[in-house]
Amino acid sequence: MPVLNPEAGAGGDSGKKAMKRGDKKEKTGREARTARRGIPSRSELQWQVTELAEQRAAISEVLRAIANSPHDLQPIFDTILANATRLCRAHLGALLLFKENDFHVVARRAPKNASPDALPLQRPLGLRPGTPLSRLAKKRSPIHDANLAADQSYLDRDPGVVIVVELLGARTSLLVPMLKEDELIGAITILRTEVQPFTEKQIELITDFAAQATIALESTRRERQYREAHMELAHATRVATLGQLSASIAHELRQPLAAIVTNGNASLRWLTRQPPEIDEAGLAVGGIIEDANRASEIIGRVHSLVTKNPVRKDLLDINEAILEVTALTHSEAIKHGVTVRTQLAHRLPRINGDKVQLQQVMLNLILNAIQAMSELADGIRELHISTEIVESERVCVAVRDSGPGLSPQDLGRLFEPFYTTKPNGMGMGLSICRSIIEAHGGRLWATGHASQGALFRFTIPAGVISR
Ligand code: ADP
Repeated sequence: MPVLNPEAGAGGDSGKKAMKRGDKKEKTGREARTARRGIPSRSELQWQVTELAEQRAAISEVLRAIANSPHDLQPIFDTILANATRLCRAHLGALLLFKENDFHVVARRAPKNASPDALPLQRPLGLRPGTPLSRLAKKRSPIHDANLAADQSYLDRDPGVVIVVELLGARTSLLVPMLKEDELIGAITILRTEVQPFTEKQIELITDFAAQATIALESTRRERQYREAHMELAHATRVATLGQLSASIAHELRQPLAAIVTNGNASLRWLTRQPPEIDEAGLAVGGIIEDANRASEIIGRVHSLVTKNPVRKDLLDINEAILEVTALTHSEAIKHGVTVRTQLAHRLPRINGDKVQLQQVMLNLILNAIQAMSELADGIRELHISTEIVESERVCVAVRDSGPGLSPQDLGRLFEPFYTTKPNGMGMGLSICRSIIEAHGGRLWATGHASQGALFRFTIPAGVISR
């Protein structure tokens, strides 16, 4: 049951009266008589039908937002809040998430000229005893405050409540918890700039919106977990394959390499004889060339094994594939204090490709960039991912970081198999990325000077719809 602030002196019933006063137009004399007999008047019925239609439209809008945005919660939160404030004739509102025992605003509706300090985004609001927020955290049921300006926390000059009352001009406030089973995961608050309590129906409506926000949060979390598991599996398989591959390369190369060393030593011995045995030395050098060619053939065979795998060619939206990977790497970026910015071109043509392989490329470039930036003791850690269409109908993806950058020596060798500067690196990531991009008919390259961050770019031809 909603808890209405007793000091404010407005109960559920008086809330209804106020709603009737404020939200509907005055009744005519006949309507008033009909209402006294308990029969809804024609205009009341019309009102109810309009209200129901509005609610149904709002619910479908929220469901559409949930369906259209499986990875990004922001549009869903914004849609829920917009509908909640509009349907309940509220002037202000916020959607809060409860993390680490505090509330953080993730969506807000406030007047355009409102100070950014009122309802600050993503900052903890501070859970001080006696405030409506801490009452909500304790009771886990709606907190309805008919007049915040009469609330004890305001009279005690709680800084948060003072800001809401004085900077935003809020008076009547409703806070509804978002509960997952019994756990508090957030809240929706709507506020009016005049003393005009919300009706039971409106409180129920906000409770429904809070349930929808909870479902969206949960399904996004599950979806993310599933994709993380999927990616981890793909990554683990790749690492295992690489492990086997490098073991077999080592095995196959050992023999020609040993023969090269033996022939090298032999030719040295022939050449240092007095007089030098040029013919014998020549034979040994001939052997070296033969073995070196064999070694190069082995490498060539392995390379074609990695690159000539047929690529699945689905018609896909590269922006969408990128957003999925950035969602996946979100926690890794936060862990290393990296801010990720995306600038994805609108109306980018689709490309033909293998989504998992291309996501593997993005994952590798992003994780390399995060790793490089986490080595920095200070300075901005920023990762910028952008897409654009470039000449000859090619889609270009750029991943730029503000890490230590690439030395001329790095630039020359980055894409060589087994080139790594990391103690535990395998040095195969970029080489595989290049093979994948080339198998898609594209090009991957790096630029960037030491100390100015690294920039990796790849292009892929725009796709054709296969019939
Ligand atoms: P690994 O990550 O196992 O070393 P990669 O092929 O992915 O293998 O990378 C090869 C090398 O390229 C890395 O060891 C690192 O020296 C360099 N490198 C890759 N990305 C970056 C980057 N964003 N900034 C600086 N150096 C990078």
